[in-house]
Amino acid sequence: MKMSQLFVQTLRDDPSDAEVVSHKLLVRAGYIRKLTSGVYNYLPLMQRVLKKIENIVREEMDAKDAQELLMPFVQPEELWQESGRWDVYGKELMRLKDRHDRGMCLGPTHEEVITFIAREGIRSYKQLPVNLYQIQSKFRDEIRPRFGLLRGREFIMKDAYSFDIDQKGMEEAYAKMADAYTRIFLRCGLETRAVQSDSGAIGGSVSHEYMVLTNTDSGENDVLYCDKCSYAANSNHAESKMLSAVTDGGFVKAEKVHTPAIKTIEDLAEFLKVAPSAICKTLVYIVDSKPVFALIRGDMAVEEIKLMNTVRANEIRIATEGEIKEILANNGFDSVPGFIGPEGIKDVIIVADLSIKDLKNFVVGINETDYHLVGANFGSEVTPPVEFKDIRLAKAGEGCPECDGTLLITKGIEVGNIFQLGTKYSAAMNATFTDVNGTEKPFIMGCYGIGITRTAAAAIERFHDDWGIIWPIAIAPYHVIVVPVNVKDEQQMAIAQQIYDQLKAQGVEVVIDDRDERAGVKFKDADLIGFPYRITVGKTISEGLVEFKARSGSEVEKISSEDAVAKVVEIVATV
Ligand code: ATP
Ligand code: MG
Repeated sequence: MKMSQLFVQTLRDDPSDAEVVSHKLLVRAGYIRKLTSGVYNYLPLMQRVLKKIENIVREEMDAKDAQELLMPFVQPEELWQESGRWDVYGKELMRLKDRHDRGMCLGPTHEEVITFIAREGIRSYKQLPVNLYQIQSKFRDEIRPRFGLLRGREFIMKDAYSFDIDQKGMEEAYAKMADAYTRIFLRCGLETRAVQSDSGAIGGSVSHEYMVLTNTDSGENDVLYCDKCSYAANSNHAESKMLSAVTDGGFVKAEKVHTPAIKTIEDLAEFLKVAPSAICKTLVYIVDSKPVFALIRGDMAVEEIKLMNTVRANEIRIATEGEIKEILANNGFDSVPGFIGPEGIKDVIIVADLSIKDLKNFVVGINETDYHLVGANFGSEVTPPVEFKDIRLAKAGEGCPECDGTLLITKGIEVGNIFQLGTKYSAAMNATFTDVNGTEKPFIMGCYGIGITRTAAAAIERFHDDWGIIWPIAIAPYHVIVVPVNVKDEQQMAIAQQIYDQLKAQGVEVVIDDRDERAGVKFKDADLIGFPYRITVGKTISEGLVEFKARSGSEVEKISSEDAVAKVVEIVATV
């Protein structure tokens, strides 16, 4: 391909709406063009990258005997009614009506459709196991479509679904996918870590996320991992051993204390001369439109996803001051936030964290403005919670839940995930097969996603410098660029053309920069776009030498044009 013909327009400045480096570079280097919020055109360079990732994914999926199909992008409401998700999916689901006023949606994911396909096509255990996948656009009306391709509204996903006769079969399918995933990301040039994760609204119990670890702000997930063993988990799911702390408030008797205008736990601790870890904190949430009180030790934080799952809900947010006042009024109290407590509260779900189990002579709110109770104990002043749950945000420095190691924290970008779904969809949608004894049973399912567009963006987050993208060669749009420094110099141009022809003939994906531009401009574009290798044909060609440079390094080698061709051919052969 000639650079003069390549459909690419590079920009000097970052787009004003871009926060993360992959978004900036993809726009500036001419890979994507925004159409509307969270929706992008994948321009020719981008399309080449995406196809490469897709082909790696295809090869590894096919190697595990998964079979590719393609499901529609638009789906009927009825299937979502059957699964029960029409009412719970929330605003991310883009709903529409057709001309007959029938409900439809843009597919955010395809569990319903694949379960329909299995229900229609699989009758007997003899047809199982089977794993079906597609590479398809998804649409999710994400609340904050920022970060370019990392979190778009429309994006490309590989989604696979396995159907098995029993749990054991599903676990085998899951292990095969875990293996395929590790290979896929490694082939894309990305090291990933499989971390335990929350399965959220999708259901199921066991799931792992594949994270590209980055310490940039684009890593939307906090990953806690052990410094000794292989434990790693998303912070929304991670467990930990708490460090020891003072859990006895030391008050000799229970009494109501005037704590005027105190707003924070720190202020309260200082005012009462007590450790924050001897305070029982009460937080009020609205979970699926119902109020929930969360009780946790004063020095700890609630992990909202854990709390949400504990009450089997889909949406959670902290209650507003007005809502808190209303809930208290319904229970016969009149207090402002900051003095809330569980005692005397009825018809509200109360979830107590494990961290408060051992509290003694502690401090707690009593729903009375400017007052707290000190020296409280469960069983006397405070009704003991029916049970204690883990709703606590695990922190770096705490103990690993699986060994005596310590947890560390890093940021990660989730590029893929795998879920053991079980019968969540097959049971709801009555998708069954007859087993060996002639009994009808729901399929045991697993589902497995990879963000194709997000993987490309994650690679840039991981590999870039001040000048541009540094693609891993396996997913670069082209392998190499040949740059004649002066296109008006006949010898330079002739040799450059010869190198180009030879590389092309050997299957190398090559661009020749035939533009009548200054060398500096050409190098800038080459670096920005991120060609993994550059062969420069300049003045030294009179001595028979060209310059060979890897994008990832700073070294410039002066070698013969034959050697340069041979080198590139050899490197590309390993891809
Ligand atoms: P996230 O928590 O990041 O929103 P998710 O849990 O919703 O991801 P899935 O629904 O399981 O993810 O989707 C499978 C894969 O699709 C994810 O691992 C991710 O790589 C990709 N993906 C999900 N949402 C987006 C998005 N808005 N833009 C780009 N890729 C996405
Ligand atoms: Mg999501």
